[in-house]
Formats: sequence, structure tokens, C-alpha cells
Amino acid sequence: MTNRWFDNWGDLLAAKTHTQGTCIIWDAGCHLQGYPMVRWDGKMQMVKRVMMERKLDIELTKGQRVKNSCGNLKCINAEHHYIAEPGTEEWKCVGHQYTDEQRSLVRKIFNEYKHPSTGSKNGAYAEVRKTFPSMTNTTALKILNEKT
Ligand SMILES: [Zn+2]
Repeated sequence: MTNRWFDNWGDLLAAKTHTQGTCIIWDAGCHLQGYPMVRWDGKMQMVKRVMMERKLDIELTKGQRVKNSCGNLKCINAEHHYIAEPGTEEWKCVGHQYTDEQRSLVRKIFNEYKHPSTGSKNGAYAEVRKTFPSMTNTTALKILNEKT
């Protein structure tokens, strides 16, 4: 049952994670896209889903997505995730939690902070994060590329 080496989820977490602020960072295997994965109960699962199920003592349906809210892809703290129900805006894609004003602010920051000669956006990402600490680069880029 459970895992080849650990039969207690708490032991597994203690061995495979470390904390960073309030984030719980997964140190073990990840999906190609960077999502923490674990073999648990005989199947490969996303760690954040297991964490959410254990926190709420529920079984997630296939359609329910567990979305991150702290911007750290390797964070598995259930407190930093929420469940998106199928068909809702937040289920469909990232970034819908931001208002139009916030979105135009993101674009403004990009304009001001992208590197003047190289066009590099690294400085702008950092600057965006000062205002929106939980926004991922992917979300920021998506907002930047939206038609205004
Ligand atoms: Zn986190």
C-alpha cells in the first residue's frame, strides 16, 4: 500500500520537503512541467492534490483542479492552493483573479522595466512581483500579451 518506502504521508513529507517562509517546497520528483509528483496509493499523483484531499478529507473529482495561489510551482502547502470547479473562469485559465486595473498595471510595469536595449523582461518580472507577490511569470506574460 501507499508508497514503497513510506507508509505514512507525514514521514514522506518530512523526507521530501523543506519549508521556505510559509511554503512547503517539494524536493523530490517533478512532472516535466515542474509540478511535484508522487507515487502514492499505487498511482502517480500530483502532490498538491493529495495535500488538498488530506486537508479537506475529501476525494477530488477528475474535473476539479487544484490551483496554486502563492506563485511557487514546487510549493505543496494546501493553504496556498484552492480548488477550481470545472467550467469556472479560474478553472479555464490563469490570471482571471486579476481585475482590469491590476492587469493594466502589470502591462505598465512591463513597459517601464523591460530592458531598454535588450528587451529582456527579467527585471520587469521582479518588479511585477513586488506589487503582485503571488503572480507567476506565466500569468504576467499572459496578461502582457492580452489585447487591451
Ligand atoms: Zn506556497
